Amino acid sequence: MRPPRPKEGVGRKETGGPGRQTGAMNGQGNEGAGAAVTRLVADYVVPCDTDGRVIPAGAVDIGADGRIVAVGPAADLPPGPEVRRVGGLLLPGLVNAHAHTPMTLIRSVGDGLPLDRWLKEAVWPLEGRMTPDDGHVGMLLGSAEMLLAGVTTSCEMYLFEAEVVAAAASTGARLVITPGVISALIPNGNVEPRIDEITEFHRTHHRPDQRITVGFAPHSIYDLTPAQCGEIAARAQAVGALFHIHLEETRSEREQVLAAHGASATQLLADHGALEGPVLGAHGVWLDDTDRRLLGEAGAAVAHCPQSNLKLGSGIAPVADLLAAGVTVGVGTDGPASNDDLDLWEELRLAPLLARGAGHDPEAMAAPAALTLATSRAARALALPDVGHLTAGTWADVVRVDLDVPAFAPLRPENLLTQLVFAGSSRFVTDVWVAGRPVVADRRLTTVDLRAVMAEGQRRADRLAGV
Ligand SMILES: [Zn+2]
Repeated sequence: MRPPRPKEGVGRKETGGPGRQTGAMNGQGNEGAGAAVTRLVADYVVPCDTDGRVIPAGAVDIGADGRIVAVGPAADLPPGPEVRRVGGLLLPGLVNAHAHTPMTLIRSVGDGLPLDRWLKEAVWPLEGRMTPDDGHVGMLLGSAEMLLAGVTTSCEMYLFEAEVVAAAASTGARLVITPGVISALIPNGNVEPRIDEITEFHRTHHRPDQRITVGFAPHSIYDLTPAQCGEIAARAQAVGALFHIHLEETRSEREQVLAAHGASATQLLADHGALEGPVLGAHGVWLDDTDRRLLGEAGAAVAHCPQSNLKLGSGIAPVADLLAAGVTVGVGTDGPASNDDLDLWEELRLAPLLARGAGHDPEAMAAPAALTLATSRAARALALPDVGHLTAGTWADVVRVDLDVPAFAPLRPENLLTQLVFAGSSRFVTDVWVAGRPVVADRRLTTVDLRAVMAEGQRRADRLAGV
């Protein structure tokens, strides 16, 4: 199956298309060697390179190639760059470690159903009617929602991979696209054609310098077979790509896999060689000690999706235990049918609250560590080493947070990260840069026409719902 390319220009602004720009900042002069670098000067810079570092009166220098040149106290950086005083707080763009963003078109369906019935009775019948163009518009809509919230990268498990890539190219977001493999698409049990298709897609679309990386995403062990998952993993490993799979989301799923195979999903993945490359397991709610040890020893990652897990009644992932076992953890929203938005600030806050509440331990996850679950740790979970922290040489994916709001008043520098994690919100995000390019300026998208995208999304959602 090769879906047709989407119609160009859905929601595209007349100006500000997806092409790369020569300067880091729109509307800024770039004459002379010094002007090739733009310096953003803020009240605080939170680099997320090491837990807890805060730079008062800090600056981020952004080169014309979209990468960070330097980060530090503004007074300590060398003169030369064009200076833009933005105030507020700068932090890395947030990284959504697990999403099915085109599901914006079926946002909030099936509320109150357990996962298996929710999928079979509410989600899959509607998704089965989605066209590639629906996937494109759904991704445009969700990508716009994420950028406005300061979420600059998302890891997508979905079909319609060409359309998902085209949509992210339009909005200017960074994307990890992991095309899905589901049993419904391989009725004869032969996964090879789909694996070949994804391998070819990786060859033609894996372009980290253009914000796109490509992985492989078997839906789950319970939907496919362990052997099929092993086959897919081998092909992902052959090209060094991320292997992304739903893992231990519900208790019934765990019991079903144990009954069918006599081993846990994680053990089965290990037995089939699937943990030998970069691995991202989504959810991990029901992982036991042995599973956690296997994942930690393999250097694997888990996407923690607390809000989706709570809404579907799946449980609370043992994040503190996962981190203690050496597993890399990033937070994710999951799809907007089970969340029901793509506001990663909510997962960023829920992760430490749940770790502390469920563990009866107020020290279970400190605020600085919680922040990394949505930034540097999440990027590491996606095998993106030069994203998620503000460090010289990394991509200039930067978010400005307004601190001049009641929720941050009074502001105590010694409490800044606690305030950011527990009082921070997408509402306070004013400006967003991806690879140095401003994609949100003064709370408005610069790349796509949001009203047009929302209107198109509404039309398509109505059609899917049979209205
Ligand atoms: Zn999912």
